[in-house]
Order: sequence, then structure tokens, then C-alpha cells
Amino acid sequence: MFIEPSYQITSKKGWIEVICGSMFSGKTEELIRRLKRARIANLRVEIFKPVTDTRYHKEDIVSHNDNSIKSTPVDSSLKILLMANEVDVVGIDEAQFFDAEIVYVCETLATQGVRVIVAGLDMDYLAKPFGPMPPLMSIAEFVTKVHAICLVCGDHANHSYRIIADKSKILLGEKESYEPRCRKCFTEGMKKRNRV
Ligand code: ZN
Repeated sequence: MFIEPSYQITSKKGWIEVICGSMFSGKTEELIRRLKRARIANLRVEIFKPVTDTRYHKEDIVSHNDNSIKSTPVDSSLKILLMANEVDVVGIDEAQFFDAEIVYVCETLATQGVRVIVAGLDMDYLAKPFGPMPPLMSIAEFVTKVHAICLVCGDHANHSYRIIADKSKILLGEKESYEPRCRKCFTEGMKKRNRV
């Protein structure tokens, strides 16, 4: 389990953490866990997410186990810089949906002494690297990859397998649209689909 460095309170140094993985891997739960611990330490915390993510309540980050924390939806990543005033910790959920400037935003905040915690899908439904996640993982001090459980074989899963026929890159949805799969079961599913 990730244990946060303890030097922020005294040294005011910033850094970037990335939490990535497939759907149902517990990314948001891990983000919430870290943000709640920061609040317990009396740090000032702000949380942002892209407006495209409207699956749940508009102003809450809500994870799949109903463990939620208040967040601000923003329509462009640069707004985070304007809105993150006087904060020690910035949390960003569903980062894969943000524009490319999110990398600059995270770097700027970290350089200013803010601890930035970013959660997002590392691969899309075709198992391709998703949006700004690869550069974010490159510039981060800490990267945590969390895993779901493959619904076919029970092994560790790091792929989001789309179980309905839809070819748009962004398809929000829950258990009716996706299931977590390991590499083998994902590949077998895609092969079978391409034959149909
Ligand atoms: Zn499997």
C-alpha cells in the first residue's frame, strides 16, 4: 500500500502521484483514501474532475463502493490552475478525459509546492494508452498501478473489456458496458469479436 512521504508539511515541496489501472480496479477508492488522510493531517485539499464524467452526482467523486468525496467539475484542465488557490493537495479523478494541458497543470502545481494526486484509466477499450495518462505517468514521482479481478478466469485484470458493441472511444458506463479482464481473456474476447 502507498504510504505518503511526510515531508510536505515542513518542506513545502510538491510532487505528482499517479494512480492508474483498468475499470473496477479501485483507482478512485485509492484516490479518496489518500485525500482523506491528507485532510486528517489538516492539509487543504481540492478535488477536480472533467465535466464529461456525469455518471454519478455532478459534484461528487463517487467510487464504486459509495465512498465519496466532494469535487469540482471543470471543462478544461487550465481552470484547475485558476481554481486551486491556497491548497496543499490537489486530487484529479478521471484524468484520461482531460486535454493535453493537464500535464502542464500538474507540473506547475507540483513546482509551486502542491502535492498532486492523479487517478485515471491507463488504457482505453482497445488496450491503447489513454489520452494524457502516459506523459503524466512519465513525469510523476510515484506511479501506482492497481488491478481488478478478471471476470473470466479470476486472475489479475488490467484491461477494460467492452461487452457491448460500440466503437466510440468514450463510452461511460458501469457493469452493463465493461468488465475487467486479464491480458489473455481480453485478447481471446477481441479475437472472437473480430471473427463475428
Ligand atoms: Zn482472465
